[in-house]
Amino acid sequence: MRSTGVVRQLDELGRLVLPSELRHARRWEKGDAFEVLVQGDLIILRKCELTCVFCGGTHELVEFTGKRVCGNCRSTLASADVTAAVGDSHVDLPAV
Ligand SMILES: [Zn+2]
Repeated sequence: MRSTGVVRQLDELGRLVLPSELRHARRWEKGDAFEVLVQGDLIILRKCELTCVFCGGTHELVEFTGKRVCGNCRSTLASADVTAAVGDSHVDLPAV
């Protein structure tokens, strides 16, 4: 982790403005959602992907290993032969 060298002050409502260089580099835009994580004395922002990691859909989203998967993709994955992709490992897919 590195410092950006940027220091910002909270406003009266507890808001911070993220430096535009960071927002542009990460393609963060107005309306994007972020999860706020705490690790010791650090506060970490993680952009929430509120769409299916495979198709971009938003129907019946379920989080699976930190990624959101929609109902249609879960059904497709459940019926697909994924043993070639994961070897002999057993994978429990989230219920459809
Ligand atoms: Zn999907």
